[in-house]
Order: sequence, then C-alpha cells, then structure tokens
Amino acid sequence: MRLYNSLTRAPEELPPPPGPIRMYVCGPTVYQRVHVGNARPFVLGIWIKRWLERRGYEVKLVSNITDVDDRVYEASAEQRIGSRELAASASEWYRQDTGDLGLGRPDVEPLASETIPEIVALVEELLERGAAYVADGDVYFRVASHPEYGRLSGARLEEMIAQEPSELKVDQRDFALWKAQKPGEDFAWESPWGPGRPGWHIECSAMAEKFLGSEFEIHGGGNDLRFPHHENELAQSRAAGRPFARLWMHNGMLELDQEKMAKSVGNVRTLREVLDVWGREALLVYFLTGQWRKPIDFTPEAMEAAAARAEGFRNVFRDENKPLPPEAWAEFAAALDDDFNTAQALAVIHEWTDHELLRRALDVFGLASLAKQTEAPRELRALAERRERARAERDFGEADRLRGEIEDAGWEVRDVAEGFQLVPKR
Ligand SMILES: [Zn+2]
Repeated sequence: MRLYNSLTRAPEELPPPPGPIRMYVCGPTVYQRVHVGNARPFVLGIWIKRWLERRGYEVKLVSNITDVDDRVYEASAEQRIGSRELAASASEWYRQDTGDLGLGRPDVEPLASETIPEIVALVEELLERGAAYVADGDVYFRVASHPEYGRLSGARLEEMIAQEPSELKVDQRDFALWKAQKPGEDFAWESPWGPGRPGWHIECSAMAEKFLGSEFEIHGGGNDLRFPHHENELAQSRAAGRPFARLWMHNGMLELDQEKMAKSVGNVRTLREVLDVWGREALLVYFLTGQWRKPIDFTPEAMEAAAARAEGFRNVFRDENKPLPPEAWAEFAAALDDDFNTAQALAVIHEWTDHELLRRALDVFGLASLAKQTEAPRELRALAERRERARAERDFGEADRLRGEIEDAGWEVRDVAEGFQLVPKR
C-alpha cells in the first residue's frame, strides 16, 4: 500500500504486513462543539486503520484531545466558567459527536492535561541539549538549533516570524514550549520554571511518544496544521534525538459555503448540526467522494448528492442479488492501496450488484448499515396487503387511498415481481 508523504512530497510504500503501523492523528482543541471539518482527519484515521487491518497489518491509532490551549482560556473567560470545566465539557461533546459517526474510537485518546509530567520531562531534555532556553517563566525552542526547520511545511521566513511575536524570544522564529501563567488564567500546573502550562506543539510530541514510542510510521492531521504545529512538533522531537514520524499525511480542508448553507438549512457548521440534518451515512459517503489530500466543498447540494448515493446503495440491497466474480474485489482494493483513493473505490463499487461483496466494501467505511433493511411496522404491512387485494380486485380508488395512508406514515410502497416492498421515505 502506498500513501503520499508530505515530508518527501512523494507517495511511499508502507512496510509489508503485519507492520506494525503506529499512527498518530492530531485531534481538536476543545472549547466548543467541533466544526464539521474536524471530522475529516478523525474519519480518515479510522478508515485507514480499518483498511490496513483488512490487509493484515497490526495498527495502533492514537488521536489526542488538546484540552490545554490559549483558546480554552480565552473561551472560558468569555463565558465566565472555569477553564478546566469548559475543557472537560467540550471533550465530552467531541466524544459524543464523533461517536455518533458510528466508527468506534481510536485505540488511545490522550488528553494533554494528563500528559504534563511527560511534557515537562521532554522540555527539560531540550534545555539540557541547548535546544531551548528559559525566559521569564516561559521556555522557548531555539529554532536555529534545528537546521532542517521549514522542510516539512516549506514555510517562508515571514510566516515563521509571525507566530506569536515576543520580546522574550532570542529569535522571532522561536516558539513556546512552556508558557508562564498569565493574569486572568484561572488554572496552571507546577513546573521547574514556575506555574504555567505547555505550548500546543510540545503536547503532541509528548503524547505521540508516550503511546507510540520515539519513532512511528504515520502522523496525520489537517493541512492547516502543517505550519506551525507539525513543523514545530518535528523540530522539537528531532532536536531531542527522536526519529519521530516517518510519513506525514495532511488531509485537505472542508470549504464551507456559509451563504448557500444559510439559505438552504440555516447556519450549519458543527459536526453535531451536520449529523442532525443529514445523518452519519450521508456524511460518510460525502467524505468518500473526495480524495483525502484535496480540499472539498461542503455545500447543501454536495450533502444532498451524498444522501442520494447512500439511498442508491440501500436500493441495491432491495434489488435482486447478482453475484460478481471474486476478482471484482481486487479492483476495489487496488484503489484503496493507491494512496487510499476513496473516490476511485466509490466509482468501482457504484456498479456493484453483488450483495455480499458490496456489504464487505461498505463495511470498510463503517457503512454496512446501508445493507440492513428497516422492517416496516406490522400495521403498515397489513395496509400494503389490503392494497394488494384492492388492486387484484381492480378497485384502484381504494388502492390509491391505501397508498396515501402508507405514505402519510412515512413509507413508500413499491411494486415488485414477488408482490410489494415497503421502503422508508427519505
Ligand atoms: Zn497535534
């Protein structure tokens, strides 16, 4: 299997099965309900794990929750609640909303707040190596100590010096590993440099190492994290002598057309709202339609199209099973093995009429539910049977009236060779 590596800017072959494949995906900063865009790296991480496991790999997926960050302090101050309280509630919202995607959980979901001793130890190591310095209770990473800085993101010097300018920095490219508690911040952790809290980037370096070791196969996250977050993670871990991640996967962003959305379904932008409006199956099919590295437009039309495609799959299971030769699977597998091209895989299975094969393919993406037919309630089946008799007696007026009654209950009656089918209306 090949995956595109942002670090080398080329597709790379994974080691042969069983691997292991150790994978870290950056999770969200939790201070409000997560944006629908946050679902993409979550979904992609679990999909790749599921696919690799079917390919005979041993996979460990770690995805963190950033519950210590500037934004948590800012949002909690605005809402006049404790920062730890807000972070705990928002972590729970994130678990609920991503849980409703029906894909299960990553193997480990560490919290930054539970990794403070490991973070402090890593900062101390960087200080000992001369790759960091203390300034007024803050600790900064010395960017000049890592000659490869900028290689991952290709960031320009102007971008590098624009991140959090401070008089305490020796070089404006430097970034904080530890931040001293500021006035108005209601909570801090003790450290050798005084009370404070970790910088965002060092949290991920420490959490990845704690659960995956000093070297691991894949590091994922949204394209917006390439700089400064991932560049800084890589710099500090390498400067501490760790090989760190070998392959970097950066998924394209969701491009929300807020104006179109507002006109059609209101101001929908959180994962919760999207799940409530369209449901998990439509959202997962929508993600399948895009190649993971590319941005995708998030519009009401795109979601309607995805919902229609999901319904199309349900219809295949309502129709007759027409088995395909087992080689059909190889074409599907080849699409996923080639940089996890789900859009291509979707095009392959679009034509499939083999129930077992299609169910197996959909199951890779957590969509085996599309193969399950919802049974109509008994009263409705009785109405449909009465309609059958009315038709047999050529009482079409009564048959139409019964059809209307079934439709009012939210079901559609379809006439098929062996009688009728009751299908929930979309
Ligand atoms: Zn991260």
